[in-house]
Amino acid sequence: MLNIIIFGAQGSGKGTQADKIISNHNLIPVSTGNLLREEIAQGTELGEKVKKDYEAGALVSDEIIFDLIKKKIENHPESKGFIFDGFPRSIVQAKHLDEILKEKNIPVSMVIYLDVNDKELLDRLHKRAIKENRADDTTEAIKNRLSIYREKTMPLIEYYQRQNKIAKIDGLGLVDDIAKRIDEVVEKI
Ligand code: ADP
Repeated sequence: MLNIIIFGAQGSGKGTQADKIISNHNLIPVSTGNLLREEIAQGTELGEKVKKDYEAGALVSDEIIFDLIKKKIENHPESKGFIFDGFPRSIVQAKHLDEILKEKNIPVSMVIYLDVNDKELLDRLHKRAIKENRADDTTEAIKNRLSIYREKTMPLIEYYQRQNKIAKIDGLGLVDDIAKRIDEVVEKI
């Protein structure tokens, strides 16, 4: 089984590259951002609950996120593996993921860390804001998300480095070239 975490700041290209890995390796995508957006769009009770935090660019509560993850994994018992995008986002979440996967005897195989400098990140996020009109792509929410990333999410790099699971990939350049860099790493797992 292949369990990959795609890791990086907002705008680093996680979603785009996750799509490529999924089609090349037949993995089930687990994107907490997409799962939340679906709930909000459908106007479910959960969607109503998370909307305020989501739009402000704040983290949604762990309890809700853990439920979403659990359901998604349990819905795919036949899967060859999962690719996590936007999760884990903190040490607490990473430990929780380790627990879930331990129960199933399937550890995290690799963390693909897309490295992109701050200037490029902001450029991409502002372009995306114009194109996609996402509710959390306001200047204020972007600032908030990047600062949470630095404070809560970046410590995960060291967490996974200690487990020897980080593959740092240069996230600059053409989408297909970056995908090739990632594929070389995934093929070696
Ligand atoms: P981005 O990485 O660009 O912020 P995502 O789609 O991954 O985009 O996440 C959008 C928002 O969804 C986050 O700002 C947060 O409100 C919520 N969210 C997504 N994943 C998580 C998570 N693992 N824990 C808490 N909140 C999350």
